Amino acid sequence: MYKFLFVSGLVILSACADVTSPQTETTPYFAENGFGEGVAVVQHPAGEHINGITYVSYQGSNEDPYVASYDHSTKEWSGPFKAGTSILGKDPTKKIDSHGKPTMIIDDEGYIHIFYGGHGGVKELHGDNALGGYHSGENRHAVSQKPYDITAWRDLNNITPFGTYNQAVKMDNGDIYLFYRHGAHRSDWVYQKSSDNGLTFSDPVSFLKSKRREDNIGNDSWYASVSKGVGDEIVIGFDYHYCWDRGAPRNNRGGHSTERKNLYFVKFNTRDNSWKTVKDETLSLPITKDVADEKALAVDTGDKWTFNGITKVDVKGMPHINAYIGEDIGWQIGGPKHASYFAWDGENWVGDVKSGLPIGRGDFLVDEENVRFLLSGIDPTSDKTKVQWWNSQNSGLNFTPGKVLLKFGDFKGEPSKEMANRPKSLSNLDSPGSAASAFIKNAHPDARIIIAEKPEKSEWRRMYLVGDNGPIGRPQK
Ligand code: ZN
Repeated sequence: MYKFLFVSGLVILSACADVTSPQTETTPYFAENGFGEGVAVVQHPAGEHINGITYVSYQGSNEDPYVASYDHSTKEWSGPFKAGTSILGKDPTKKIDSHGKPTMIIDDEGYIHIFYGGHGGVKELHGDNALGGYHSGENRHAVSQKPYDITAWRDLNNITPFGTYNQAVKMDNGDIYLFYRHGAHRSDWVYQKSSDNGLTFSDPVSFLKSKRREDNIGNDSWYASVSKGVGDEIVIGFDYHYCWDRGAPRNNRGGHSTERKNLYFVKFNTRDNSWKTVKDETLSLPITKDVADEKALAVDTGDKWTFNGITKVDVKGMPHINAYIGEDIGWQIGGPKHASYFAWDGENWVGDVKSGLPIGRGDFLVDEENVRFLLSGIDPTSDKTKVQWWNSQNSGLNFTPGKVLLKFGDFKGEPSKEMANRPKSLSNLDSPGSAASAFIKNAHPDARIIIAEKPEKSEWRRMYLVGDNGPIGRPQK
């Protein structure tokens, strides 16, 4: 009898729902105009949670930046709105370039800033690049017309056009630091500082030097990951890019590859502008390869290739490095890379590439000896892309799979040319069906990370905002 009543109740409820919202269907994603990679860990943060609202940015149609927001109390989405116009992505004969994906920071007055559109600049448009080379694009800075309002934007034209891989940090006193690579792959890494909520920026300051190698077969080059530390500190993790000349003995890959090695760590005290090693030895800028090897090396990865993830500190200020590490397989972008984690214990860097973390991309949380990774990657047993927690209770030495927050179908999209040329067994590498952002700044547990799915046979990406209860869905009209 009880069972009968219960079933009848369900029927009535669902009938009511049909009457009140006849055409409303909820999708697990909030937008479907993501383009190229949509998001990536390196351009961070891509979103921020403040005053009960999560703001997110991503690369959409025509490689332009888009911004959407989600109100956690009303459960309503706003946007996406186009927040700027990139000079990338306007020539359909060129391959998709995802270097200019937006990076977001919200200033102390509530204005929302995005930095986007850069991939080294163009000599004919931008003149001489004193700190590196050229490729394409124009690094731009747009700000919302009103505080906490994503509907209207203006460009400020107050940063150098050569930048790419923007990363933004806001200090406790409101100063904004913009870090980026000042040009194409043979360029210094620099920062610019703003003390007036992004209205003006100081000249760029080089902190990692790209220079000609002494053996004259290539250049020293770098990829960096920057985060706010404790108090006035900013922490920087980086890896070394072997930028061989075309035809150099070491270069059997036909030009620029993503061959990167080792993990390094330094910290920047913004109060006195000093740069130091993990052991508090002072460094002078810009840091060269010799100095980095001698003083800043955290992990020697040997023959393995790296791809840096997020470097950050815990509440005590102890540093933690996440990178993706895999074999050199003779291809331009290397073999599949497993998420890896290393931590400074006060005397040594501790960690192991065989910690059980999967191939994927994402970010991590550290709370005492508990380390949790949220990664988007392909489950080797099912071949499906999953966004899943991976947990460690022993300071990151071993990880075991945790809760799955989002699951896609089989990846059947068109592989990129590089992917298509690979041996079949490696076609899953680094998750072609999805891309992940770093964690949203000050993230609400319901909205931690932005995921871009490349659905079957589509050139577009579906964009998801994912948290502890799965993706935050959205009614579709
Ligand atoms: Zn290179």
